[in-house]
Amino acid sequence: MRKDFDIIEKERVYRENGLDAKKDVGFESTGLDIQEAKLRTIQYFPSLASVVKNFTFQNDGSGTEGGVACTDTKSIIKLNAVLLSSAGIEAAVDIIAHEALHTEESAEGLLGNIASDGVINARLRASGRSMKLGGIDIPNAIQMGTQAIYAFLNKAIGYVNSVTGSSPDADSNSHEFTREEVISACYGNYALWARLVNWVKTKDKEKTQSAQPELALVF
Ligand SMILES: [Zn+2]
Repeated sequence: MRKDFDIIEKERVYRENGLDAKKDVGFESTGLDIQEAKLRTIQYFPSLASVVKNFTFQNDGSGTEGGVACTDTKSIIKLNAVLLSSAGIEAAVDIIAHEALHTEESAEGLLGNIASDGVINARLRASGRSMKLGGIDIPNAIQMGTQAIYAFLNKAIGYVNSVTGSSPDADSNSHEFTREEVISACYGNYALWARLVNWVKTKDKEKTQSAQPELALVF
């Protein structure tokens, strides 16, 4: 059967932009036009073009561990195409750009991932992306940078672990944080984040005070 003129024209534009449909695996009949999403991504973010053109894109909802996407930061980006096709093409652009930016921002483990996600999503929002699917949202993430956020979260979790026998308290002055609260403070809960920052400062102060060496008395 003859291909529709629009489809032929679209394929020409994709080819001209260096997009290769062979690098897309498993997107047929998912409802997500992966080539269109990739094209829009490189038009919006020309600096991400080489990652978008060269990485292999796989539709693998199960491979994203319940999330919407993931990447090995070297050659593969996995997307949950079913979820993205219902969220819309611009949400897919947000997610592709997010994964491509992990080639510039990444750190080890869960806290490292939260830290790099904070910086990446802040960069995307600063570029005017709506980030419809939400995700990690940390105040001043760009100014702090991935490593500083990672160090801060690590310290916060360290303090959580060192607090023994205390239960969460509604009173903000004596409130001790739980691990879950540290994590949820990273999801755009700015009031909780501000309280976390103050709590860590207080713990820092307690630590330096208790670390003061005793005065040596000389007679
Ligand atoms: Zn991420």
